[in-house]
Amino acid sequence: MLWPDAGLRRARNVEIQARVADARRRHPESEAWLGLLDAALGESEDGATWEAAVPRPLADRPVKAPLLYRARITVDERAAGRWVKRLAARANVGEVDAVALLEAGVSQDNPDPPALRVVAQLAAIPLLQACARVLAAELPASWWEGYCPVCGAWPVLAEYVGLERKRLLRCGRCGTGWAIPMLRCAFCDETDHERLGYLAPDGEEEMRKVELCTSCKGYLKALTTVRSLAPWAILLDDLATVHLDVVAIERGYERPARPGYALEARLA
Ligand SMILES: [Zn+2]
Ligand SMILES: [Zn+2]
Repeated sequence: MLWPDAGLRRARNVEIQARVADARRRHPESEAWLGLLDAALGESEDGATWEAAVPRPLADRPVKAPLLYRARITVDERAAGRWVKRLAARANVGEVDAVALLEAGVSQDNPDPPALRVVAQLAAIPLLQACARVLAAELPASWWEGYCPVCGAWPVLAEYVGLERKRLLRCGRCGTGWAIPMLRCAFCDETDHERLGYLAPDGEEEMRKVELCTSCKGYLKALTTVRSLAPWAILLDDLATVHLDVVAIERGYERPARPGYALEARLA
């Protein structure tokens, strides 16, 4: 019998596995990406390795800088190398510099060739989710920016949570959620209600919509929910609602290509 080299393996979270399997059935076109996401979510469940790498935020960072701005992150080289190389092998991208790729993923730099970009983004998820868990208590009491207060990414989703329908923006990388006023564009801070609107699919208006800003032409998918999504569910929800992206893009709206805040984090 051959034993995998990864040491002790834990049982996976059954709910995540069921949701990923369901996504694979519904979106066979995204099979390759879902395979990588599934690996990243599995790695994220094994949090201890990554929680040990969570850095102290810079004390003198600018007020509007996310917690990981210019952070020096020291990872366990063997564990990080094993994880990134496993993901790279799965994506068939050849030999990679594990630490450099992880750093690119954390800072949202785009490595070349572009195929590496997806690997870098997904490779960083276990570390970023660990940062969000460990640093949750350090989040500023109020955060008015449209980008993630932990990792600087633009939100993937706006959630309207509970009976009071509080508007929360959610980061698809680290999973952080932060409250922001109802009528305010996450991307350009537009607050003029004449310039903010939404599209809703027939019959789903109560549950799903796409928020639009005519000032910056940005769009953000929104979901009404009783309870906030788990961090692992955000990217799965993003895939499940790709028909809403199509509708927004067809009307000339887009998600910003550049990160919300350049993180400039360094890994060692
Ligand atoms: Zn984030
Ligand atoms: Zn805008």
